[in-house]
Amino acid sequence: MMVESVKNFVGGSWVEAKSGETFDSINPATEAVLARAPLSGGEDVAAAVQAAQAAYKSWRLTPAPRRGEILFKVAQILAERKEDLARLMTLEMGKILAETRGDVQEAIDMAYYMGGEGRRLLGYTAPVEMPNKFGMALRDSVGVVGLITPWNFPVAVPSWKMLPALVAGNTVVWKPGEDTPAISAAFTKVFEDAGLPAGVLNLVTGAGQTGETLVSHPGVRVLSFTGSTSTGLKVYTKAAGLGKKVTLEMGGKNAILVMDDANLDLAVEAITWSAFGTTGQRCTATSRLIVQSGIKPRLVEALVAKARSLTLGDGLEDSVDVGPLVNQKALDKVSGYMDVARQEGIRVLTGGRRADREKGYFFEPTLFDGVQQGMRVEQEEIFGPVLSIVEVASLEEAIDVNNSVAYGLSSSIFTENVNAAFRAIRDLTTGIVYINHGTTGAEIQFPFGGTRGTGNGMREAGQAGLDSFTEWKSVYVDFSGRLQRAQIDTDKILGES
Ligand code: ADP
Repeated sequence: MMVESVKNFVGGSWVEAKSGETFDSINPATEAVLARAPLSGGEDVAAAVQAAQAAYKSWRLTPAPRRGEILFKVAQILAERKEDLARLMTLEMGKILAETRGDVQEAIDMAYYMGGEGRRLLGYTAPVEMPNKFGMALRDSVGVVGLITPWNFPVAVPSWKMLPALVAGNTVVWKPGEDTPAISAAFTKVFEDAGLPAGVLNLVTGAGQTGETLVSHPGVRVLSFTGSTSTGLKVYTKAAGLGKKVTLEMGGKNAILVMDDANLDLAVEAITWSAFGTTGQRCTATSRLIVQSGIKPRLVEALVAKARSLTLGDGLEDSVDVGPLVNQKALDKVSGYMDVARQEGIRVLTGGRRADREKGYFFEPTLFDGVQQGMRVEQEEIFGPVLSIVEVASLEEAIDVNNSVAYGLSSSIFTENVNAAFRAIRDLTTGIVYINHGTTGAEIQFPFGGTRGTGNGMREAGQAGLDSFTEWKSVYVDFSGRLQRAQIDTDKILGES
């Protein structure tokens, strides 16, 4: 297969890196080189920021409904190219076609949702203290925004950032994950073909250093990051020192709680797909099963059977349920947790090792039993097809175990008892809560993000998603024709008018 040559997109042109350096993107199912991309340096980031600054002058003045129309066009082109984009995504990062199609669909949904914001972007008016005076609050654009994204949702996650940023009148410099440059370029091409003016969206591919340069650049006032907690905190620290606004979406240690009265078959299906879908490499993946004692034996037996029935392989094949891990580093990390599990005295019910295949970073779906609250495998994000089973006696204990981790993205409970469900809604301290559904499958019209170590209090998607990329501007219009200074003036002015 031919190695694709990826370029940066700067100021409306596809260009090589000024650094002259490149890096390779590897198909994780075959270990073949898929694409070669610019390893962008400081000069490349600077050129992209400069292009974005130049384009901002007219983009911010483009009427928002017109900006929204371009987003609708983005949605249409994405829909036309959905299959091609999904196939390229599977080739580049490994998840199965059904999931890569879903990834593109998220961007289509978000493009329509944020396109609609072009005719909304709601501010508000409120009464003011003086007569003959009017007050309103408007959402204003910020300027050039820097986006740093990972490889696991290479179209969906960037779309959650760039679509609200663009409709609000900002211009963008995007640094995608180093495992997914080719799909990132294909996604950027959609915006070019939709008629987005030159310089409004700029792509610079590269590694961590490229991202760091973008964070430090004085022309970038706002950053939105999705990725690991350790990198996110580095970005946050650096950006804070420079007084920048940051949105962070980092790790998760998501749990499904299963109560004795749960619908067993439904729970088995949901746990399987939330734990092993995308090979466990979603920030919302289920990595803990917190199960009440009564249902545990039946549930665990069914889960082991289900995990063993999953077909591993190249995500392009229809019969495959679970693709590879993204790269050798991910495989080493997940394998490392098997040693941790052994040291912690955990029983491996199924899996626990690299799959027996000639090529590719495949790891068997794995179930750990006998996991206790506080163990490393119960606390740390593994980011692979590994589910830790924790047995509890009651709903209260289950909720306590759920809440006692450093992360707070997503949680779920399976119960047929409405009182238990509402207690869980009240007491589970995650940013997303599901009832009788797995921990994955967020919809773009609701806020997405987490508490504790998952984020920094910001949210993506929904109306909240606009907060990252807008400033509030409060406007006072005094049409009294005089300087109104204090409440004391009120009676007098009212008498005159
Ligand atoms: P992952 O495990 O998903 O690769 P990372 O947090 O390492 O998670 O990467 C997420 C994104 O952050 C990637 O685009 C990566 O290149 C970028 N990145 C890595 N290190 C830094 C850094 N020090 N500053 C800014 N961005 C970085």
